[in-house]
Amino acid sequence: MIAAEYFDAIRRLPMRSLRDLTGGAPCVVLSPHPDDESLGAGGLIAAAGDAGQRVEVVLITDGGASHPRSPSYPRQRLIELRRAELEQAAALLGLPPDHVHHLGLPDTQAPTEGPPFDAAVHAIAAICVHAGARSLLVTWDGDPHCDHQATARIAEAVCRKHPEIALWAFPIWGWHLDPAEPLNRPQPDGLRLDITAQQARKRAAIDAHVSQMTDLIDDDPDGFRFTDQTLAPFVGRFEYYLKVSP
Ligand SMILES: [Zn+2]
Repeated sequence: MIAAEYFDAIRRLPMRSLRDLTGGAPCVVLSPHPDDESLGAGGLIAAAGDAGQRVEVVLITDGGASHPRSPSYPRQRLIELRRAELEQAAALLGLPPDHVHHLGLPDTQAPTEGPPFDAAVHAIAAICVHAGARSLLVTWDGDPHCDHQATARIAEAVCRKHPEIALWAFPIWGWHLDPAEPLNRPQPDGLRLDITAQQARKRAAIDAHVSQMTDLIDDDPDGFRFTDQTLAPFVGRFEYYLKVSP
């Protein structure tokens, strides 16, 4: 299957309810960078809040590599800015401040093995157990970004230790794979969540990540920012969750 076919199949996944995704129980969202939580799962986070279901968000890296050469936003200032942006986004999604956790790993260095990997698995498992989570949501392991793939590996390890927790993946950069790229994967299995009632709040949360969405930081020629085109998969009426067997 090529990427275009795979993502067409994702767009046609059956529409299901929040309860089908979370079982009506608490859930935990893993966000490799500040913004992935809103882009991939902002509708779910807001919907769970609406339904009185507990959600915890775990930020894996500090996001300090989005504008590596900006004189006006050296690394520490950028990290603090992005942390404040995440707090704002979380508030817009109705998430209490103490439901946002920070692993604080350096951007682009989410671990895939060794003691740092084990420590991340341990920390996230503890958050899941404390919350009574029955589902864990993470960026798709096919996203072409090292931190997204590493975070998916961490989530798989958590769910292998805790088989009572269902694992779901949401694509971010996968949406922008070359449509002709071959994907050696079975047909996607999962669901589509209608987030019409949460769409405006999700959009506001995405926009709260001002450093990623605007020219706020305009003095780094290598700096990152979203465009209308790269944002398009995340601002529609649906979110997409793929079932993962850890
Ligand atoms: Zn990311």
